[in-house]
Amino acid sequence: MKNDYLVKSLAFNGNLRIYAARTTELVNKANQIAHAYPTAAAALGRTLTATVMIGGMLKGRETVTVRINGGGPIGLILADADSMGNVRGYASNPRVHFQYDSGKLNVGMAVGTDGDLYVTKDLGLKDYFTGQVPLQTGEIGDDFTYYFAQSEQTPSAVGLGVLVSPDNEILASGGFIVQVMPGASEEAISAIERALSTIKPVSDMIADGLTPEDMIAELVGAQNYNVLETMPLAFNCNCSKEKFIPGLTSLGNVELDEMIKDDNGAEAVCHFCMQKYRFSASELEALKK
Ligand code: ZN
Repeated sequence: MKNDYLVKSLAFNGNLRIYAARTTELVNKANQIAHAYPTAAAALGRTLTATVMIGGMLKGRETVTVRINGGGPIGLILADADSMGNVRGYASNPRVHFQYDSGKLNVGMAVGTDGDLYVTKDLGLKDYFTGQVPLQTGEIGDDFTYYFAQSEQTPSAVGLGVLVSPDNEILASGGFIVQVMPGASEEAISAIERALSTIKPVSDMIADGLTPEDMIAELVGAQNYNVLETMPLAFNCNCSKEKFIPGLTSLGNVELDEMIKDDNGAEAVCHFCMQKYRFSASELEALKK
């Protein structure tokens, strides 16, 4: 399969849960919308990849929102996903680029570490789970690893990688989340620790043509896992004109009157997909209290 997809699997007789994803196309779409520079594209792509995999852990109509605000020049990175493989996200300042002397993208510099990673799960019926951890390196993979250990009490390893060409094309993107199940054996834990210490970067594996299944096999061996589910992934925004009405209403009559008088209406822009929605003067008039 050439498109983006997520593989959910169990390894070593259920001792480990492993999710692996290829996200090259969806990160490309996000990047076409954001016109991000390479380092910002990598930061956004890693965040989208982690968010869509966490979405894959949810059920039914549950959703997850991830916010990363490390005080770095990229500003806020925000992404949300549902349980069916749809994800969207943006960075408030996508025109950011830093690299190490090696040429590797310096995502940590763009994101910063003076802030937190927030994960909010909407579990329906006004039931929310929010986890918040201080950013460790701003490299995002490390930060999610720390999040799972601290907020969800699940020892995990998160690998994320995005390969960006100098002319801002996403060449490869993907990731994995390995989680140690309660009561896991020492053999399983030391086997995965060994594998994690020698595995190639995710961006290299995806660029070399490895599938999500191949990445899981690299981690645990082809004979030692079984696939639970395979799910296509895509960048999709579910915005609509109606969703901007509460925000406009909350501005109050004075500000609405100003928009009617000065601009003969208003234009709302979706941060996620850049879709524009026009509100006429009479539509704004109807929102006044
Ligand atoms: Zn939108």
